[in-house]
Amino acid sequence: MIRAFVVGHPIAHSRSPLIHGHWLAAHGIAGSYERIDVAPEDFSDFLRGLRGSGLAGGNVTIPHKEAAFALADTLTPRAERIGAVNTLVVGRDGRLHGDNTDAPGFCAHLDQSLGGGWPARGGAVVLGAGGAARAIVVGLAERGVSRIRVANRTPGRAEAVAALAPGVAEPLDWADLPEALAGAGLLVNTTSLGMKGQPPLTLDLAPLPAGAAVADIVYAPLETDLLAAARARGLAAVDGLGMLLHQAVPGFEAWFGVRPEVTAALRDTIVADLRP
Ligand code: NAP
Repeated sequence: MIRAFVVGHPIAHSRSPLIHGHWLAAHGIAGSYERIDVAPEDFSDFLRGLRGSGLAGGNVTIPHKEAAFALADTLTPRAERIGAVNTLVVGRDGRLHGDNTDAPGFCAHLDQSLGGGWPARGGAVVLGAGGAARAIVVGLAERGVSRIRVANRTPGRAEAVAALAPGVAEPLDWADLPEALAGAGLLVNTTSLGMKGQPPLTLDLAPLPAGAAVADIVYAPLETDLLAAARARGLAAVDGLGMLLHQAVPGFEAWFGVRPEVTAALRDTIVADLRP
């Protein structure tokens, strides 16, 4: 019986057990994937306890991604660059291996939604400069997007995120968004604006060129006002659920030994759970 987990605080809202439970059942694997609520002051003890616990590894979510980065024994180059870990694998020797799968998860969803040629649509504008933005800017740069402009409420954080992809990413004043959108092929919202319980994201999409795509990583609600506005303009709209599903793939493969697929059936299961 292989056991994995998702750790966060709070954690009751996490859909990860549904995702991994779906794949465990689909592949007939005798395994489990459980939620574990750990307060920040207890997180380092929790990680220490993983050695010899019998757990194969797990996902790390808010607010522990930076602490997992600091405390993992080894890091993938991508996790090192992003500065956050969302996937931990417990090695045979008990060492903790940290990865960040948010970046490839976001890009895999764009591949599935827009086709693999999307990096050629043109430059990207990224709204927000939190943990998710760090992963997405690194992911977009890895995939060859030529210019990435990062706008954030707190400008200093946009500068820090842009510094992750020197020569490709640059900070952008929020006031200059209309001009930046006019030259963009992809707009990504990584702020929490538009999420249930948060203020709306109010942005005029009119300057975006006709062939542009709009992605929102907020997935509750699934159809944000931003995506509705993009569809109303006839633009390609990419929702946030796919990133959540795709980022889970490498962890499942590492813990349970099978690379799972992000299928329509999996998506339908999570969509049904997201319904109010
Ligand atoms: P985070 O590190 O807390 O960053 C939050 C971002 O939102 C910051 O840029 C922050 O700006 C901005 N923001 C928050 N409130 C704002 C407001 N009132 N006005 C303007 N900007 C505001 O969070 P995160 O981990 O990056 O996550 C961000 C969002 O992405 C959340 O909704 C989360 O659920 C979602 N997410 C989705 C996935 C997925 O798989 N689809 C994965 C990760 C995250 P400041 O820097 O100025 O504070």
